[in-house]
Amino acid sequence: MSYDPNNIFAKILRGEAPAIKLYEDEQTLAMMDIMPQSPGHVLILTKEPAETLFEMTPEGAAACIRTTQKLAHAVREALKPEGVFIGQFNGAAAGQTVPHVHFHIIPRDHGQTLKMHAREMAERPELERIARQIRAALA
Ligand code: 5GP
Repeated sequence: MSYDPNNIFAKILRGEAPAIKLYEDEQTLAMMDIMPQSPGHVLILTKEPAETLFEMTPEGAAACIRTTQKLAHAVREALKPEGVFIGQFNGAAAGQTVPHVHFHIIPRDHGQTLKMHAREMAERPELERIARQIRAALA
């Protein structure tokens, strides 16, 4: 599968598009989802030029899971949800809308209805407020 270097996440990783960043290391970047399905919806991106899980190296995949676990701990500590969904889509048929591998962390309470996937932009101040809480839990 050929990788499109102009997808929005590739631009964010190159610093060409804005993001509310939470954590970054050599292999991964964690940021707020701008169209969250619930408050505290976080994305973990690989820095590998990979569209889906199937193009990742095992090392890159392991790094993504490590960062996902780290951020899941922080989200749980900061927001105290009753549950935390973690997911990852491969291919448009599976629901993937951005062709660069990433994992979703979506906090959720019993009975809480999730917003539609990638549909409604959140208010930036609200995203920044939640990001501060998550960063504080990471520290
Ligand atoms: P996918 O469907 O590819 O698994 O998920 C893509 C996710 O990226 C969606 O949850 C969507 O809300 C989010 N998203 C789309 N464009 C942007 C963007 O420019 N910045 C951020 N932070 N998230 C985005």
